[in-house]
Amino acid sequence: MRTVEQDVGFSGIGIHSGLPVKMTVRAYNKLGIFFRRADLYNETLVQAIYKNVCDTNRNTTIGNLKSVHVKTIEHLMAALFIAGVDSALIEINGVEVPILDGGASSFYNKITEAGITKGKNQNQKIIVKKPVRVTAHEIWPELPIERQNDSYVELLPSQNSALNIHADFRVEGKMQSFDYSYDGTQRSITNFSQNLAPARTFGKRSEWEYLRKRNMGLGADEKNTVIYDRDKALNQRWENEIARHKILDAIGDMFTSGGFIVGNLTSYKGNHAMNNMVLRKLFSNSENYAIINT
Ligand SMILES: [Zn+2]
Repeated sequence: MRTVEQDVGFSGIGIHSGLPVKMTVRAYNKLGIFFRRADLYNETLVQAIYKNVCDTNRNTTIGNLKSVHVKTIEHLMAALFIAGVDSALIEINGVEVPILDGGASSFYNKITEAGITKGKNQNQKIIVKKPVRVTAHEIWPELPIERQNDSYVELLPSQNSALNIHADFRVEGKMQSFDYSYDGTQRSITNFSQNLAPARTFGKRSEWEYLRKRNMGLGADEKNTVIYDRDKALNQRWENEIARHKILDAIGDMFTSGGFIVGNLTSYKGNHAMNNMVLRKLFSNSENYAIINT
């Protein structure tokens, strides 16, 4: 179990709420990533675990039975996973984790600079034994027939001891792809911090009003979001920045398994809903996986 050596503070705004928020990642003595809402009278903890995921509409939100919620945990979760932190208490004085740079760079850099304790890293490995697949149809049965199988997330057993992720995502008619493997080596960690952590999500100008009316995207700007004006990205860092960001999201969402998933994850136009459902399916049958505590 590894936690942070000292408190790590963040302040910024939520990408959906647009509200200012302060957050501190603190050392903890129990395995798992736990949140405490410092702004609520109810200070019960909510664990960042797949069973607690209660909203997956353009973010991953966790909540407990006492109505304590935290939104948009996924980029912070990805940073904690790659930093090798599997135990932390995160205090937050609002409902949404700050978006900061739009990816995971700020989280990853500050957490690693603060230092990580020297316990055994990622001692809980979850080995995928059988294929598990989720299609859009299973989540949204009302989709028109031609769209029902046109997106999916799949977990397959892997030949190596890694989490191998392939993502395809279509934005404005163009398909983007990216691949990433995490095996705990410095090479895979550096690859994350250079090629995935800076990747941001996207927003379409045409959807702006629709989202604002639903209190979404209120904190989005050209620094933390790739802005599409019709079919043109105005400020992207890579041609496939969105596919890279999809992998970043998937790493964060897979860490709500509570461990290091060893398997091949394919995300074909996937999203947070399918990432969560694939974990629920994986854990619904003990023949699908094996947990190894090293
Ligand atoms: Zn994201």
